[in-house]
Amino acid sequence: MSIPVKEAGLWKCPYCDFKAYSKAVVEHHILEQHKEKLKERKRKERKRKREEREEVDYVMDLDHKRVKIILHDGREFTGKLHSKARYNIKLETDDGKLYVINKAYVVMYIPE
Ligand SMILES: [Zn+2]
Repeated sequence: MSIPVKEAGLWKCPYCDFKAYSKAVVEHHILEQHKEKLKERKRKERKRKREEREEVDYVMDLDHKRVKIILHDGREFTGKLHSKARYNIKLETDDGKLYVINKAYVVMYIPE
């Protein structure tokens, strides 16, 4: 459902110039006048969700395993990998240290 926007005390349709004092009136207007826009929105949302589900994450397959990682600058770390987060990994090295590393800087993951 598209949400009306409040503007100077009035609720406004996000698709045209329709304004009203009541939010429900604008919601009704959107349902009546912009059916196509709503359908399109739903279609896009479904498509995006489908793509998200299909996104393959090989790093996730190594979650909780011992790996050696090689960083962009050549440094290497070995430890237990935590890879649930989208942009960072957490590596628990053998000396008990915790590193949070941006995935963009990891060149390679090598399972131990
Ligand atoms: Zn409208």
